[in-house]
Amino acid sequence: MPKILELSPHIANLIAAGEVVERPASVVKELLENAVDAGASKVTVEIRDGGMTFLRVTDNGCGMAPEDAAIAFRRHATSKLKSAEDLAAIGTMGFRGEALAAIASVSRIDLLTKTAGSLTGTSLHLEAGQIFSQSEAGCPDGTTIIIRDLFFNTPARMKFMKSDTVEGSRVTAAVEMQALAHPEVAFQFLRDGKQVLATPGNGGLQAAVYCIYGRDFAKMVPVESRWENYSLTGYVTKPTDARPSRSMQTFFVNDRPVKSKLLTAALEEAYRNQLMVGKFPACVLHLTLPPAVVDVNVHPAKTEVKFLSEKAVFDCVHYGVLGALNRQVDRPEVKFKPQPTTIPETKPLPPKAGAPVKKAGFFRTMTAQEYQSFSAAVPAAPQPKPAAAAAAAVKIRQQADSLLQEAVVLPQVHKEPPKASEPPKPAPSKPEPPKPESPQPEPEQAALEMPAIAEWRMVGELYRTYILVEQGDEAFLIDKHAAHERILFEKLKANQESISAQTLLQPMPVHLSAEAAGELLANRELLDELGFEIEEFGENTLLVRQIPMDLGAEDAGEALESLASGLLSGRRERKDTVRDELLHTVACKAAIKAGWKSDEKELLAIAKAVMSREDLKYCPHGRPICVTLSKKQLEKQFKRT
Ligand code: ADP
Ligand code: MG
Repeated sequence: MPKILELSPHIANLIAAGEVVERPASVVKELLENAVDAGASKVTVEIRDGGMTFLRVTDNGCGMAPEDAAIAFRRHATSKLKSAEDLAAIGTMGFRGEALAAIASVSRIDLLTKTAGSLTGTSLHLEAGQIFSQSEAGCPDGTTIIIRDLFFNTPARMKFMKSDTVEGSRVTAAVEMQALAHPEVAFQFLRDGKQVLATPGNGGLQAAVYCIYGRDFAKMVPVESRWENYSLTGYVTKPTDARPSRSMQTFFVNDRPVKSKLLTAALEEAYRNQLMVGKFPACVLHLTLPPAVVDVNVHPAKTEVKFLSEKAVFDCVHYGVLGALNRQVDRPEVKFKPQPTTIPETKPLPPKAGAPVKKAGFFRTMTAQEYQSFSAAVPAAPQPKPAAAAAAAVKIRQQADSLLQEAVVLPQVHKEPPKASEPPKPAPSKPEPPKPESPQPEPEQAALEMPAIAEWRMVGELYRTYILVEQGDEAFLIDKHAAHERILFEKLKANQESISAQTLLQPMPVHLSAEAAGELLANRELLDELGFEIEEFGENTLLVRQIPMDLGAEDAGEALESLASGLLSGRRERKDTVRDELLHTVACKAAIKAGWKSDEKELLAIAKAVMSREDLKYCPHGRPICVTLSKKQLEKQFKRT
């Protein structure tokens, strides 16, 4: 029979160390949390060799009395938790009393500590968790802890360490995280003798974020919102500055760095219909909640939390960020590369934004011949609408026009009374004073009239793609397709509680991949709500009988394919998302295209909408609608300043 033995404290500590002390960065995290808990206002961290040989944390906090200093290194020794009730409302970073014991068991430690009230401090030396010496020492108020030779007695763990550079960078990240968590504390970080970070500790998150993210931060949007006793503060990126990964999403719950799918989802929900595929917002967000509604006692590394009400937390973050984004005007500046000496070469234009992209898709519409061969086999749809499919394209165009018409609300105030059939003036004998910039509008154009509300002027169109608008010392370039797409998208979203559908005169076969066809058939009910009626037609082919009213029959295949890919990528749980994606497709198809010839009326209507509506910032895929080109920038290019 195997004998049961109780583990010695040393072995128990080594096991705990495996959980708490993974690498130098985790040691630093624990020590910094202790310093913050001790009420320090200034903390200095110094490492050598990635923190493997030397790691020192000095704080000016409350310090420890001699008798406490020795106990602090015992397992489950903590001053922060006295009763089980305390666990329900944790206000400190630490509470398990595990960190110092775990760190001590795998390193050599020197501790110097002094409380403000006492004349002398305490010096302590430990190796592998054993106290080797304790004595009185002269030292400043606060605590200095030096960790040497981490993992010297656990070679197996040592093997898992990466290079000093990698470990050092992780320490940097850990210090940065604490600096962002506690802007009220001044953090200084030295790596191999060089200062890498110093935050002012003046309490402003802005200053801390600036020290860490540098100039990038200047473009971030401040978030400040309160909801009952929840508060959300911090910074988020503009949709146009989104990052290729989620690595720059930093969340703090009651000052504790946390990883949470819920918070990420709430953040990203605020960017819905404003981000490009594969782009993610960055943030530094502090969520402050009453301690009783959050449980941090989930994981030893304590980066996970449980919320009492996930919905309340989700809404607080979602609406807090959404509100901040909505308040923001986002018209990125045209950027010129500094090319001081030579005359810039003409570079080929970047691919036209919004130009129709021919995707190599799975679907294809049948040829006329193929169609004939099986159309006999297909029973005609019940009560088809006459020529619905053919009318669809016209309809979309009409709808686009009517939407544009609606957007044109000409200001009445500045309209001059129409001069009834005045004969053309004879040529003036005196030269007239020069007219400001714009030539006299043509009679037809005069009816359109430049809106005077914001004193902007449509200058014209560039490359049949960008509408050029001037306002004061700024010029705006509006991507006509992106803008129109967004206008239509918003309109569709607002209009259609349920998507109305059109029955096709002739049911239309659409070929898809087996996977896509299967997914669509499995979601027939959802498709029905979205205005599609489909049925199986063998060999990865669907027969489409009905499509959304605003979609052209020729675009139905592509819309179905994108629906299928949305469903396959697991977004099905949010029906809204799938529906929005369909509306994207419809809006994109219906919008005027880059490269198309547009008449001035259309362009002016779009310009007017963009100049007057703050919600028109990005196309539904996250591309900007409008960019700014300031007079100053141009003057710089022409060396006028
Ligand atoms: P915990 O932080 O979970 O309480 P630790 O093992 O990290 O556990 O620390 C044990 C105790 O040592 C703390 O509760 C605190 O009383 C004391 N302590 C640790 N670091 C410091 C410090 N820098 N200043 C003052 N007291 C400290
Ligand atoms: Mg601690």
